[in-house]
Amino acid sequence: MNANISEIFVSIQGEGLYVGQKQVFVRFAGCDLACSYCDEKRGLSPLISAAAAAEEVIRLARKNRAKAVSLTGGEPLLNREFIKAMAPALKDAGLAVHLETNGILYRELDKVKDLADVIAMDIKLPSSTGGKAFWREHSMFIKAAPEKTFVKVVVTSGTSAADFGKAVSLAARAYKSVPFFIQPATPEGGVKPPSRGKLDVFYRRASARLENVRILPQLHKLWGIK
Ligand code: SF4
Repeated sequence: MNANISEIFVSIQGEGLYVGQKQVFVRFAGCDLACSYCDEKRGLSPLISAAAAAEEVIRLARKNRAKAVSLTGGEPLLNREFIKAMAPALKDAGLAVHLETNGILYRELDKVKDLADVIAMDIKLPSSTGGKAFWREHSMFIKAAPEKTFVKVVVTSGTSAADFGKAVSLAARAYKSVPFFIQPATPEGGVKPPSRGKLDVFYRRASARLENVRILPQLHKLWGIK
């Protein structure tokens, strides 16, 4: 089983619930979306076998004392058979498997959710991404493995209150204590983060319905690391 992998590297997790943790990252090439704030470098990526990828992840984890691997992208769930082939070796090596996903491919998630220890799902707001809405898909996705899932919502200067409110409702209907991260977009490529006042409004709105809301920008970008 092979997949196009852009890179396998060690870094500090800069987003979400495990921020600050040293992890090995497996960055899958390719995505089914095209978000306005995307920083994925698209282009040709080498085709790597699941066995070779697992070997490299375990080597880097041991060398750097990392205890978790993040499967990221791109969209890792486009490679669910590869994940199924690779994950057992990672778990046997004692690594926690984190899945970072756009939160849309719920059927694919169903096939690999037992292999993931943590699921970091996005809720994509059309007024943030510049693309279409996926409310039904996100709603199915968040219910697939709620005990392992946390949510990330990227907000920009253009994010609408209506979209944000829908994301909060969707998460609250799934479970009120889901960790819910409001992530101001990193200012690059013409995308701007929301104002402080707008962020405060979003935070208050989310906190009225959810028990575990935080605002967290992409710290790895602020640190200037991968
Ligand atoms: S889902 Fe992620 S990788 Fe895909 S286009 Fe959006 S930001 Fe980029």
